[in-house]
Amino acid sequence: MIHPEHHRRAYLKAMGIDVWVPRDAVDPAVDPAIAADAVAESAEDLDIDGLRSAVAACTRCELAKTRTQTVFGIGNAKADWMIIGEAPGAEEDRRGEPFVGRAGAMLDEMLRSIGLNRQNVFIANILKCRPPNNRDPKPTEAAACRAYLERQIELVQPRIILAVGKIAAQNLLGCSDPVGQMRARPHELNGIPLVVTYHPAYLLRSPGDKRKVWSDLCLAVKLAAETAA
Ligand code: URA
Repeated sequence: MIHPEHHRRAYLKAMGIDVWVPRDAVDPAVDPAIAADAVAESAEDLDIDGLRSAVAACTRCELAKTRTQTVFGIGNAKADWMIIGEAPGAEEDRRGEPFVGRAGAMLDEMLRSIGLNRQNVFIANILKCRPPNNRDPKPTEAAACRAYLERQIELVQPRIILAVGKIAAQNLLGCSDPVGQMRARPHELNGIPLVVTYHPAYLLRSPGDKRKVWSDLCLAVKLAAETAA
């Protein structure tokens, strides 16, 4: 549903009329479309350090009240590869870094298998704040956080995006398909090739699927090389 206010602002913007939006005027629980749009306006001109500060100060959704700190992302801000996961867990919330702990070690292993590491990729999440008790992100939270991720992608300009797990893939591709149906084929996000694979935490539980992940990684390597050519 397009909210009339969203419509009104789109018209005003198209007419070149700036609309002033108080920093915290928007309650994403009321209308995620407006919240996402407002964040987009505030994020779209920021460089990576400005964006990091904006994320650190963000109160766009309820998760701001329960987080220890935001988890912006880590790695090379001009990386060819961008890895996108779901949301910080307890350890990430404590350390301010994505993918630490056992799932992080598995992600490192995945990267190592194709000659990469944390320093030469950029790792981010759909959400920058931890959902309490590690529950799935709510659509309103993902919508409120989306513009930060979009800006990160715009700034990093990766040659390939690797979406790990269902939540990342479904949010990025705007669908509700299971990972099994999304993996093993090329997708695209804003003109950037995107490959879906299983989440490293899933791999810890189902090591038998490592071969599938390997084949997804090989597909991503091929697509990244094609983008570079
Ligand atoms: N840690 C993250 O940062 N993201 C995930 O998706 C899982 C664990």
